[in-house]
Amino acid sequence: MYVMLLGAPGVGKGTQAKLIMDKFRIPQISTGDILRAEVKKMTPLGKEVKAVMDRGELVSDELILKIIENRLKEPDCQNGFILDGFPRTIPQAEGLDVILQKLDNHITLKVIEISVPDEEIIKRLTSRRVCSNCGELYNLLLKPPLDDNKCDKCGGELIQRDDDKEETIRKRLEVYRRSTEPLIGYYKQKKNFYRVDGARPVEAVFAEIVRVLSEK
Ligand code: AMP
Repeated sequence: MYVMLLGAPGVGKGTQAKLIMDKFRIPQISTGDILRAEVKKMTPLGKEVKAVMDRGELVSDELILKIIENRLKEPDCQNGFILDGFPRTIPQAEGLDVILQKLDNHITLKVIEISVPDEEIIKRLTSRRVCSNCGELYNLLLKPPLDDNKCDKCGGELIQRDDDKEETIRKRLEVYRRSTEPLIGYYKQKKNFYRVDGARPVEAVFAEIVRVLSEK
């Protein structure tokens, strides 16, 4: 099963990707997570991209396509994957078409757009927290941790992503409208495009996604 989650930052792509991953046993490929891991390890790549990410801008298409091509060749991707936060531009989508053709002609990608109004996105993202140790996601409004600043799973410290400050969120939304939203038109004209309303409880959104993924 090959899935792509499209939608603005904060619509719940990461949360839904993790649920899909657990249910269907296919890996979540999040370019944002891959880049953040590089930043945390302070690798040359991490140092190169940190400032761009902190500004809420996009990392170069060339770099992202190289990361994706290497990642999709890994053995755990053989039976499927969930693309989360990639592609983000038309050149990335075109690059992905080429990579998928090289991997296997018979891959059928289901593209799911999760849509949520901007004001709700800003509310959600400013209250988002992430465990600095295991990456578990929390939301002070929607999914608060049991203990104020600690991860329920591992006790790690919960932090706010540098790019989850309101000003950067507005910038990320602007970048989304300009560079990523045109992808909706790109995929709409192909088969297997679906839209789900993301302004509902996580379980309701997930139930609809499962229905879509179970369709032949
Ligand atoms: P995310 O966690 O998906 O919101 O990504 C966080 C940041 O990483 C973005 O604001 C970009 O700076 C960068 N990034 C992640 N995925 C991509 C991508 N596909 N293309 C360009 N930049 C990306």
